[in-house]
Amino acid sequence: MAPTFRPHRLQAPFVIREALVRVCAALAARQLIAGQDGNVSLRIGPDRLLVTPSGFAKGALDVDDLVEVSLAGEQLAGRHPATSELGLHLAAYDARPDVHAVVHAHPVTATAFTLLGESIPDGVLAELMLTVGTVAVAPYAQPGTAALGNVVRPLFRQHDVILLAHHGAVAAGRSLQEAHFAMESLEHGARMIHAARQLGRIISLEDAACDALREARRGARNGSASDAAFMENGND
Ligand SMILES: [Zn+2]
Repeated sequence: MAPTFRPHRLQAPFVIREALVRVCAALAARQLIAGQDGNVSLRIGPDRLLVTPSGFAKGALDVDDLVEVSLAGEQLAGRHPATSELGLHLAAYDARPDVHAVVHAHPVTATAFTLLGESIPDGVLAELMLTVGTVAVAPYAQPGTAALGNVVRPLFRQHDVILLAHHGAVAAGRSLQEAHFAMESLEHGARMIHAARQLGRIISLEDAACDALREARRGARNGSASDAAFMENGND
């Protein structure tokens, strides 16, 4: 019998694949993605990422649908092609060695700000300043092209969450949970600001309050341990 092609087995342990699949389901449940939107990646070794496949409804993925790629974008394992937005993810890992997970979604209200040429206003929501930080807006680049990675790469050096003009948003985190929660908080904050604008004129926090929040965010980030070690040990 002729040998048949068998993709290399996924190295990521079941619990880690399950965690990634759960994040995808949560993004769909919160309507941060629709149809085949969105993609998620997680660092599982020094040169290995676990990523979502191209072209699936991400809310209903199976743990065996995931794909493993190198940081150069070469497919290492999995039965499907990797996400077509791999370049967006690789740009984050390239720009920031502390990044261990990336979530790309299409949050409705947050993305709507970019249609007006705006970002999410900074200095108005305390929790957003603590958990997400200043949100950058990357200039428009066509989805699925190398250009998209190129426009976000420099912004990731200073920001954890970037809006993609006329497209969506991307969040990088030191853990899967951090990147996931940043995406949720981005949309939640955008909805509050949208609601406030319908009521009247937004009043910014005082400079001293903003400085204290930025300092608190810096302190929290320097102090809290990354779960990267767990993820990488999980690959043993
Ligand atoms: Zn997209």
